This record gives sequence, C-alpha cells and structure tokens, in this order.
Amino acid sequence: MKTDILILGGGSAGFGATYRALQHKGLSVTVVDANEGFGGTSTYGGVNCWEPGYGGYGVHHILAQRLMASGQGFVGKSYGAFSEDTPWGVSKRCDDPYEETLIRSFRNGQEQRRFHFEPQAMADTMLELLRESGNFANLHLLFNSRVENVTTEERKITAVTVNTPEGTLEIHPKLVLDCTGDIAAARLAGCEVIVGEDAQTRFQEPNAPENPQRNVNGMSLVFRVTPCDPDFADTMPDELSSVDISDWKAQLYATNRPAACFNDYPNGDININMLPTLPGECFLDLPREQVERICRARVYAYWNWVQTQKHFRGYRIAHIFPMLGVRESWRLVGQYVLKEQDLRNGFSVELGAGHSVAFADHPADIHGSSNKKGGMTMFARYGIPYECMLPKETDNLLVACRGSSFSHIAASSARLSRTMLAWGEAAGEAAAQCMEQSCAPASVDVKLLRKSLHISENEP
Ligand SMILES: Cc1cc2nc3c(=O)[nH]c(=O)nc-3n(C[C@H](O)[C@H](O)[C@H](O)COP(=O)(O)OP(=O)(O)OC[C@H]3O[C@@H](n4cnc5c(N)ncnc54)[C@H](O)[C@@H]3O)c2cc1C
Repeated sequence: MKTDILILGGGSAGFGATYRALQHKGLSVTVVDANEGFGGTSTYGGVNCWEPGYGGYGVHHILAQRLMASGQGFVGKSYGAFSEDTPWGVSKRCDDPYEETLIRSFRNGQEQRRFHFEPQAMADTMLELLRESGNFANLHLLFNSRVENVTTEERKITAVTVNTPEGTLEIHPKLVLDCTGDIAAARLAGCEVIVGEDAQTRFQEPNAPENPQRNVNGMSLVFRVTPCDPDFADTMPDELSSVDISDWKAQLYATNRPAACFNDYPNGDININMLPTLPGECFLDLPREQVERICRARVYAYWNWVQTQKHFRGYRIAHIFPMLGVRESWRLVGQYVLKEQDLRNGFSVELGAGHSVAFADHPADIHGSSNKKGGMTMFARYGIPYECMLPKETDNLLVACRGSSFSHIAASSARLSRTMLAWGEAAGEAAAQCMEQSCAPASVDVKLLRKSLHISENEP
C-alpha cells in the first residue's frame, strides 16, 4: 500500500496532524492506531479533561464548541479544598466561557478553568470533522492496528509494517509522522532516544538534578464511577485477588496518598484520575500484562478505600479505561531539545524567536518520585520550536507527540492534550507543505508554516 503521509498514532497529536493534512486537497493520508478510534490518551485512556492551558489558535476551539453545543462537554472549576477527609480535587460544571480554560500560568487553583468532555463524543466529533474536510475519500483509517516494524534506507523510512485485524500490511509512505506517544517508529528507525531524568550537566537546566535517576513521570489507570445505592462498596474481583498490592494499600491507608482528581461528566458520572497509580518506569521495565493487573487491582483497592474509609458513598466503578495513562516514556533527542531554560525564556534560547509552532503554560508537573529541584516550577506562556519534531537520523520523519524532543522537565509541562493537538496540527501542516513543495521536513519554511497555522507574528 502506498500513501503520501502516514500518521502513526491517532491520539491528540495524531488527530491534529490528520485534521491539518486533510485540509490539503489531493494528498493521500493514512492513519494507524491501536485503538478503535481517535483521541488516544484523551479518549481511550480516560483523560477526559483539558487542563487549563494556552492552546493557541487551533482545532480545539471547534471541538469544544461542538461538544458544548451537544451537551457532551462543559467548562469546569475546582470546588472545595483538599483535606485529610477528602484527599482529592473536585472539578464541577460552571458557567464560564471556554476562553477561560485557556489560561493557566500563575492562576491559583480557584481561578483555573478546565474543559470536561464525554470521551466517545470527543472521538466521534474528531471523526466528524475529518468527514467534513472534503478530502475524506483520500483518508485511509487503520484502527485496531499496530506498528510492528519500519524499514529504512539511506536516512529514509521506506516501509512500515502494520498488524491489522485483516493481517500484516506493508505501507510505503513518502512522509511518516510518529504520533504514537512512545515514539514507536522513531525507535524502530534507530533515532536517538532518552528515558528518565536528565542530569544537570546534560542540558544545563537550573532545576535538573545532579544525580539523576531513571524516574519517569507516573502512570495512571483512569476510571469512571456512576451513581449507585449508597450501601454498595466495590470489592476486588476474583481474577485480581492474587495481585500483591499489600504495601501500596498500607501506604494508602497510612498517608492518604495517592491524591486524585474527581472530575464530573455531563451525565453525573465522575472521572477518577489517581496521581499516579504506578511509577512511570514500570511501564518500561515490566510486562504490559503485569502492569495492567497491578493498576487494575489498585483501582479497586483505591475506590473501596474512598467508599469505606473516606465515606464517599453512592458511586460504583462503571468503567476502567482500556488504555494505560502513560505520561512519559521514551523521548526523542532531535535536532533541537526543548529545555527548562526555553520554558522560562518564553521561546527557544538558542534558536531565538520565530520558531514556535505550539504553545503551553503548564507548570513542570511530575507525579511520583522525582529528584527535580524547586517543586512544581511555574512557567508563563512559552513556544515550542518546530525543530523539536525533527530527528537527526531520518529525513522523512516528523516526531510529534509527548515523546518529541523535550527534556524530562520540559516534557512534564508540554505534554498536555491541547498542546499536543496543536503540536500535531503543526506536524500535519508541515507534512502537507513538504508534499506540495517537494521538500524535506528539515527544509520547511517555518515562517510560512506559522502563517498557515494562524500564529500571530507577535508570538515568539
Ligand atoms: C493519567 C494522565 C492524566 C493526564 N491528565 C491531563 C489533563 O488533565 N489534562 C491534559 O490536558 N492533559 C493531561 N494529560 C496529558 C495528555 O493527556 C497526554 O500527554 C496527551 O494526550 C498525549 O497525546 P499524544 O498524542 O502525544 O499521545 P496519545 O494520546 O497517547 O496518542 C498516542 C496514540 O498512539 C497509538 N499507538 C501507540 N503505539 C502504537 C503502535 N505501536 N501502533 C499503533 N498505534 C500506537 C495509541 O493507541 C494512541 O492512540 C494526562 C496524561 C495522563 C497519562
């Protein structure tokens, strides 16, 4: 099978890339994703909330408008305070406009607004927008399919092998966008990657540790609870009773940790996101099945504790999301690495202004063990340069997802869903421009790219 643009991963970034590439008539676009629809972590991983943050101009505005109009999304704000009796944050519907969700930096918790949504409605709306593009006939969707291998020749990916429900397929793309989060294609193509904390000496980041460890931002298995009889309490299912979580449970009872976010859904259910469920490095070190079993057992133990020890009654577990919530794994070491200094500066210190194609203002947000200095460092709005999606080794590959060329500290801030949507949009637009101008991603005119993305000249 041949395609112009092959987008691997249909999460926030992958959807953004597909949306943008399809605006260019005549290009053939193929999307491969292990899930059965779009949205990735933000839908199948249960992260059904866009945390406050500057998302810039982009498709998130249309998605939010549609979801709000259909009653499947709303603006939420924090209520109540984190206490020993309620060691979780609560976010509920408020009447503020969507624009209020677009500011994070230096707002206190009570002033912050976020966007809650129904995951299926989000996945459906994403597909609906692609159908409306006018180029839908040129889009080939391969869901429930996994990238297995890539073939490279002379600095180019010439083929990607994909396992589909119908069998193995070899795809020959002109350009590849790796939006898999775990940068599957970049790793298979032999690009340089890193994992865990970066030493202070590596990127000279002010808050990086002198003695880094393989700490990776923690992962969470997100779940959903629904109203039920107040006398009901969830118990551990038989198939998980052999999973030993005794130490973790003892710590939960003794320390009230992990904390969690309880976010309302439009229908009155609640989304529960433990912070975190398991250390992030377990995703890299343990077999996937083992990780999933431990996380599932912790979900049941946690919710039983909330019901019986914290007296939050009247809700039972309705759904555990099928995709593990992975905040961080492998990261590309690309042509430019986004660093803490850039986040503090507002744009790349080394490249200067004019290179940013996506924006964020989220703090350095690490869950679980960390040697980072300075706690949750706050950042004002900053731009992410296009060069962070360019690998050094492969000429027809763009890496646009949470695993792009970010330091550990920068990744902990830049990873949020709306930033990834915009980051993906930039990658899709860049890929389309490469096809139309017969140039390589490294030769893209970033000024023109920013203009196409409606990024104001005042932005860094
Ligand atoms: C638990 C948790 C809570 C979070 N909370 C928030 C929050 O409240 N607000 C917020 O804005 N952000 C939050 N984030 C961050 C944000 O949700 C993610 O960083 C963001 O969604 C990542 O987008 P992405 O496109 O890079 O990756 P993903 O959305 O993970 O997409 C990657 C896609 O690639 C596919 N894929 C991976 N490997 C393969 C393969 N080999 N073959 C085929 N397909 C593959 C996956 O199926 C997936 O669909 C949270 C993240 C986590 C994990």
